[in-house]
Amino acid sequence: MSIDIEIPERMSGSDSLVIAMDGPSGTGKSSVSRLLATRLGARYLDTGAMYRVATLHALRNDVDLTDPAAIAVAVKDLPLGIGTDPSHEVIELDDVDVSGEIRGDAVTKAVSAVSAVSEVREQLVALQREIAAAAGRIVVEGRDIGTVVLPGADAKIYLTASAPARAYRRNQQNIAEGRGDDYEAVLADVQRRDTLDSTRAVSPLRPASDAVIVDTSELTREQVIDELFQVVAQQISSGGGR
Ligand code: C5P
Repeated sequence: MSIDIEIPERMSGSDSLVIAMDGPSGTGKSSVSRLLATRLGARYLDTGAMYRVATLHALRNDVDLTDPAAIAVAVKDLPLGIGTDPSHEVIELDDVDVSGEIRGDAVTKAVSAVSAVSEVREQLVALQREIAAAAGRIVVEGRDIGTVVLPGADAKIYLTASAPARAYRRNQQNIAEGRGDDYEAVLADVQRRDTLDSTRAVSPLRPASDAVIVDTSELTREQVIDELFQVVAQQISSGGGR
């Protein structure tokens, strides 16, 4: 889809503009959200990183991940630091950078258990809303942004792609970052997390009824950004999300 429409003034300048970007892992969501934020002169919030920091904190405190009450207690006073500059990632636990560690295997395996705990979600959702309100102009990326965190967002996008396309990308990323080459294992992990995230009782992964679904399986990153820019322009023009 590439319809030429007039670009609304709010796409540039400093007026408030809130964009909810949801979807499963491996769609290229983080990199395109950052690029879109930069193009719009907006801040960027990676809510997945927040759940990952909570998970790392629980792991470091030897919390039993089958015990939601214990997870809730451990995460209650989470010493989390998160930045919103789309070109400079800041993710800290106890004032120490954990941006690498939160993407490792141990956290990736455990994060679904932690993010399924309702107290953890309530706590992080409240923080996400505060950060978005303070920023004013922001792209917020996650799983439940359009449905739960910011249902009044100016534009809502749900990025998706086939499981093999997502596993391929994630595996290429692992290879590039020296984390090994194992497509089958990555595919199994993508499918496992999809199932856990979309079937959990609290805030399951699903598109908001007013989100525009963009399938990135066959698109390059540049094509995705162009498409998203058009989609946001259209949603703003038609008053989407409000
Ligand atoms: O986006 P990322 O893969 O880093 O997210 C890690 C995990 O955090 C997801 O698998 C999901 O369990 C959880 N998450 C969530 N809600 C969000 C963002 C992430 O439950 N808004």
